[in-house]
Amino acid sequence: MNVVYVPVIGLEIHVQLSTATKIFCSCSTDYIGAEPNSNVCPVCLGLPGTLPVLNKKAVELGVKGGLALSCQIRSHTVFHRKNYFYPDLPKAYQISQYDLPLAEGGQIFITGDDGKQKKIRITRLHLEEDAGKLVHSASDGRLEGAAFSCVDYNRGGVPLAEIVSEPDMASPREARDYVARIRQIVRYIGISDGDMENGSLRVDANISIQKTDGETGEILYWGERSEIKNMNSMRAVERALEYEIRRQEAVLRQGGTLDRETRHWNDSDGITASMRSKEAANDYRYFPDPDLPPIEVTGSMLQEIQFSLPEMPWAREERFTVQYGLSREDAVFLAESAALADFFEGCVGGGASPLRASNWVRTEVLRVMNEQGLPVGEFPVAPSSLGELVAMVDRGKLSTTVAREVFGLMAGGKTLADSLTAAGASSGGLSEEAVAQMAQKVLQANPDVVDEILSGRDTKGKKTKFLLGLVMKESRGQAAADAAARILEKLLNDRR
Ligand SMILES: [Zn+2]
Repeated sequence: MNVVYVPVIGLEIHVQLSTATKIFCSCSTDYIGAEPNSNVCPVCLGLPGTLPVLNKKAVELGVKGGLALSCQIRSHTVFHRKNYFYPDLPKAYQISQYDLPLAEGGQIFITGDDGKQKKIRITRLHLEEDAGKLVHSASDGRLEGAAFSCVDYNRGGVPLAEIVSEPDMASPREARDYVARIRQIVRYIGISDGDMENGSLRVDANISIQKTDGETGEILYWGERSEIKNMNSMRAVERALEYEIRRQEAVLRQGGTLDRETRHWNDSDGITASMRSKEAANDYRYFPDPDLPPIEVTGSMLQEIQFSLPEMPWAREERFTVQYGLSREDAVFLAESAALADFFEGCVGGGASPLRASNWVRTEVLRVMNEQGLPVGEFPVAPSSLGELVAMVDRGKLSTTVAREVFGLMAGGKTLADSLTAAGASSGGLSEEAVAQMAQKVLQANPDVVDEILSGRDTKGKKTKFLLGLVMKESRGQAAADAAARILEKLLNDRR
């Protein structure tokens, strides 16, 4: 029998919602770099006698996320207490949601391993508070040599949306594509900065292996799943899953069995290691939080949030191919972030042809962005000005070489008009007038050739091409060839 081992992957993604304050108190969510335990209050420390007050903004952002993932939004939902004893929780429970999540039953599309669109079902999106952070002596320079752990509650109570997928991914690459899509979505709709490095987007993966009959597809054995934690980059998600597939498959090949467990990804060693068996840790004794009233999402609130949703990345990709005739690859590239897509469209709005605008954004704009280390939102050249410049290239008024030089000056902070002047290409371009003068000069210097052409002996156009070559040389290659040819032809006609 031809036995095939098939990975089955589902992901849980925690996204830090972009509110100014924590979910149940007025402490700031901007805790990074703050002195440990300086960004806390009696509420988020869970001191006796305090009561949580729900931050409405967190609910709005959660609803927005749910809608973007095509989920159903519950009109009536509650918070539960998830009880577990671990020092990162001062209350010994986390306020989360259990059987009545804010949103459920959604879907998004990724590129499957066969290159086609693949649907990934979203089980649910629920709200919860973040926990504090344990700082172990070995992992923090400040505690060097010490054999103990410290806890920092600055992050405790920061609002999170947990997005849970169905186990619909079949490879590390698909998982990575899914994470990239979720990150793109939360950034598009502005509910999170989606930054994995600083922990505002965290991924846990559930992975198991099915042993199947390669001919019939029948499942012969389905191994227990493990949950992988501590993957702090896209690359880490992919590598950890690749490792885990190899590990689980090797166990099954040797006739062994797998335990349900939580495993920790060690990025520098490139391995996962068992943290704890899942059964032992899993009795959370959920119960409704008596301190928090139910959340009501009214029809008008839902409608208002629905209207506030921007055009989604996949819709924008599709529109770019249809409206502008871009290739799928260009469309996906430009729609990667809303800011880049806006920039491209601003450029087209400034008069540039979509194809040339796409080229310019993908090459020149990105090059300068990388050189200057700037996000597209802070790019020094307004997209409409770049559009005007590119339009001059479109019309043959400016050569690409000169346009690049002009663009370089604009990127240095000059206006389009000043850059054109400085590059010796006044706003008409190095074209028309300047090129006409050069062509005139060439014609005057070559009366014999001109005579030959005017008397009709240049049947193959070789002499005209010769003159055009001289004009181009005169302009040091800066004239646009088609514009120069047109101008030369006109001057010759004037003499006929
Ligand atoms: Zn607080």
